[in-house]
Amino acid sequence: MKEKHITWHEGSVMKQDREKMKGHKGVVLWFTGLSGSGKSTIAVELENVLHASGVHTYRLDGDNVRHGLNRDLGFSDDDRVENIRRIGEVSRLFVDAGLMTLTAFISPFQEDRDMIRSRFDDGEFIEIFVKASLEACEKRDPKGLYAKVRRGEIQQFTGIDSPYEPPTTAHIVLDTEKVTVEEAVQSIVAYLQKHKYLKG
Ligand code: ADP
Repeated sequence: MKEKHITWHEGSVMKQDREKMKGHKGVVLWFTGLSGSGKSTIAVELENVLHASGVHTYRLDGDNVRHGLNRDLGFSDDDRVENIRRIGEVSRLFVDAGLMTLTAFISPFQEDRDMIRSRFDDGEFIEIFVKASLEACEKRDPKGLYAKVRRGEIQQFTGIDSPYEPPTTAHIVLDTEKVTVEEAVQSIVAYLQKHKYLKG
């Protein structure tokens, strides 16, 4: 065990103190869904709305993380698990810092999402399922990835030749074939208000 001689060093400024100063809860909003389902679009717009109302936010997005922290990881099964594990741990630090943390990763496997959820206290992890059919996602194809898959340039692509396991325990489900980006954002804000994550 590598961590044998390591202990967590507790400071005297606690998460609750940081939350009090910010006036809202530290929590992760974990967006999951197929590529093109709308995770990034909704997370970006939600962050705009939250920021404008004085909420301290941070957004973690798939490709951005792969540029730096996870640049050593590829797309093998092991690397995908490690990719998500690190993102979960970074999110945990941001939540401890009192930030409303928005993550937009396909995170296709229930087991991985459950593992991350288990690293958070109750109420600190909000799972948001951004739902859209594979047909709709492929039609949108915002990054041209589905076209590349169909040309055989990408393998093991979620939804095509790698599975996506829809969450069974999501706190919020957004069907982006039925609701607009604005409506999706509003329903998340309503959830945060209802469950007292926001001030006032
Ligand atoms: P993901 O992050 O899940 O891979 P993106 O947010 O990058 O997906 O892309 C989603 C695409 O779908 C964007 O081009 C967006 O404009 C479009 N779109 C159409 N309707 C919606 C909707 N209701 N919610 C979110 N995105 C939508």
